[in-house]
Amino acid sequence: MQHQARKRFGQNFLHDQGIIERIHQAIAAKPGDNLVEIGPGQGAITHGLLERCGQLQVVELDRDLIPILRTKFFDYPGLSIHQGDALDYDFGQLAALGPLRIVGNLPYNISSPLIFHLISFSQQVKDMHFMLQKEVVERICAAPGNGDYGRLSIMVQYHCKAEHLFNVKPGCFHPAPKVDSAIIRLTPRAPELQAQDLGLFAQLVKQAFSTRRKTIRNNLKSMLSAEQLEAQGIDPGLRPETLSVQDYVRLSNAFVAASNS
Ligand code: SAM
Repeated sequence: MQHQARKRFGQNFLHDQGIIERIHQAIAAKPGDNLVEIGPGQGAITHGLLERCGQLQVVELDRDLIPILRTKFFDYPGLSIHQGDALDYDFGQLAALGPLRIVGNLPYNISSPLIFHLISFSQQVKDMHFMLQKEVVERICAAPGNGDYGRLSIMVQYHCKAEHLFNVKPGCFHPAPKVDSAIIRLTPRAPELQAQDLGLFAQLVKQAFSTRRKTIRNNLKSMLSAEQLEAQGIDPGLRPETLSVQDYVRLSNAFVAASNS
């Protein structure tokens, strides 16, 4: 069965066996894992996951790939195929067998909203390994003070430990994307400091980065005064990319406290 790669589904199929092996070593799947693959495509990663674990659930959007997967993996009764959009998929329903280990060479056009969606299930997730655009991996893993540090770093790092594992060149895919890629591991964990209102925390972080060149006093003036920033030990003249994740949690909790008083 032939399949023409579709740009609208972000289809860049992995073919480099060395990279596929490195991905499997990073995931280190074993029998008993509750593995889920997003966007199995033509099965480049799927095969090794099934060989190592025996059980695998996959979520694939492209209907034309479903019969290809069914034929290719006919001999693997442990494979469950769900046709659907991972962006609104209820991953919680797959967690009945234990904490999820989610894997995917993700379509780059939806990677950020998909990661936000997956983070909403982080209590049911053990870990996640994704192939993403290298630039997105660098943004997620960036530390305060780094030019890549921003809203995505803070929102992901609040919920997960983020590790940039290794880079992948365009030639490892067919068709080759225009950008470099990288493998990231995200491991959900309890935040160092708990945000009392997650919605407000997200809103405050968005507002803080509304203009990157401006100071935190300027960007947050509709939410907190300079005095309120100082009361939390934050210099109002700092730029948003210099504050840590915990600084933002403290500020959002101060905003909640001020709103309730
Ligand atoms: N895993 C395969 C590989 O490594 O060769 C394919 C990776 S390709 C970059 C992305 C895959 O995600 C494609 O199979 C595509 O059809 C699928 N996909 C795209 N959007 C999706 C969505 N919203 N939900 C689930 N799968 C999606």
